[in-house]
Amino acid sequence: MSKVIVLAEHQDGALVKATLNALGAAKALNALVGGGFSIAVAGAGALDGVVASLQGYGAEAIYVAQDPALAGYTAQAYAQAFHAAVRESGAAFVVAASTAKGKDCTPRVAARLGAGQASDVVGVEAHGGGVVYVRPMWAGNIIGRVRVNTPVQVITARPTDFEAAPQVGGVSPVKPLAGAVDAASLRMSYVGLDAVKSDRPSLTDASVVVSGGRGLKEAENFKRVLEPLADALGAAVGASRAVVDLGWVPNDWQVGQTGKVVAPDLYVALGISGAIQHLAGMKGSKTIVAINKDPEAPIFQVADYGLVADLFAATPELTAQVKARKG
Ligand SMILES: Cc1cc2nc3c(=O)[nH]c(=O)nc-3n(C[C@H](O)[C@H](O)[C@H](O)COP(=O)(O)OP(=O)(O)OC[C@H]3O[C@@H](n4cnc5c(N)ncnc54)[C@H](O)[C@@H]3O)c2cc1C
Repeated sequence: MSKVIVLAEHQDGALVKATLNALGAAKALNALVGGGFSIAVAGAGALDGVVASLQGYGAEAIYVAQDPALAGYTAQAYAQAFHAAVRESGAAFVVAASTAKGKDCTPRVAARLGAGQASDVVGVEAHGGGVVYVRPMWAGNIIGRVRVNTPVQVITARPTDFEAAPQVGGVSPVKPLAGAVDAASLRMSYVGLDAVKSDRPSLTDASVVVSGGRGLKEAENFKRVLEPLADALGAAVGASRAVVDLGWVPNDWQVGQTGKVVAPDLYVALGISGAIQHLAGMKGSKTIVAINKDPEAPIFQVADYGLVADLFAATPELTAQVKARKG
């Protein structure tokens, strides 16, 4: 019986990297509550590749729910599968990465378990013989410490705040789960995924992100001014909500409280004021560079390097410098 179970995520046959951060969160929990951890994998067809990439992390078991109803992701079917895995493992702590799917599915798993849930957890601490979960509230302006009072507890862990678990070697036993999904009871069915295709690194995995805001003045300037810098740096492109709402760039570029949370090695903000809702999605970045013509812009309060300048002059210069250094 494992004390903790991690709900693994995969896409197109490959493990989603954030799952390794969820394993890191599981290990942090084990350090407080003892015991070991297991992993749950759900899907249709061959899951061998995903299971193989979860080997070597020290899991006590890898539970595998395989069912045709899991061919495309729906919260309902995956919640049934994960619920079966949690029951089988006997775990008291359920951990998923705080990704779109993790956030979508875990409340259903918690409801099935009669468990309380803490979402978007950025740390775990021992407190009074139990565990408290550290989580940002009010767009990251307050860091709350919450306790969950049910015997089984579900958390989603922010991938940017837990180190990916390291390989420790060994082979975890694989345990298939029979009848984990009751297909007849499902009221959701998977229709298709209209994924945005891009040659750039994905926003949440990239080590460099260049983001633009309303200071870019018009959509065309993302292509003309921002993207050449992103290309020179091999960066993913992000944006403020203001420009997403204006329809200049796609939704999935949005960084912030209601967008993606990123923590790259380098975050470059061009013409972004630094509203708290934007900072909530990027202030964990290791180095922040901001170009803004307003010296009072709040982005400068979190920037490691700030340039008070017109971005239309400064960005092409910066791009040329980066290119020159790369040779
Ligand atoms: C519930 C809620 C959720 C939200 N969620 C998000 C979220 O997830 N992400 C998010 O980003 N926002 C979010 N917002 C919106 C947020 O409050 C701000 O409105 C938004 O971030 C502002 O975007 P911006 O910085 O691009 O635009 P602005 O605030 O208009 O700033 C533009 C900046 O560009 C600078 N500038 C202008 N011209 C130049 C130039 N030539 N050279 C250099 N600098 C220049 C200006 O000085 C200014 O600082 C949310 C708001 C609410 C209420």
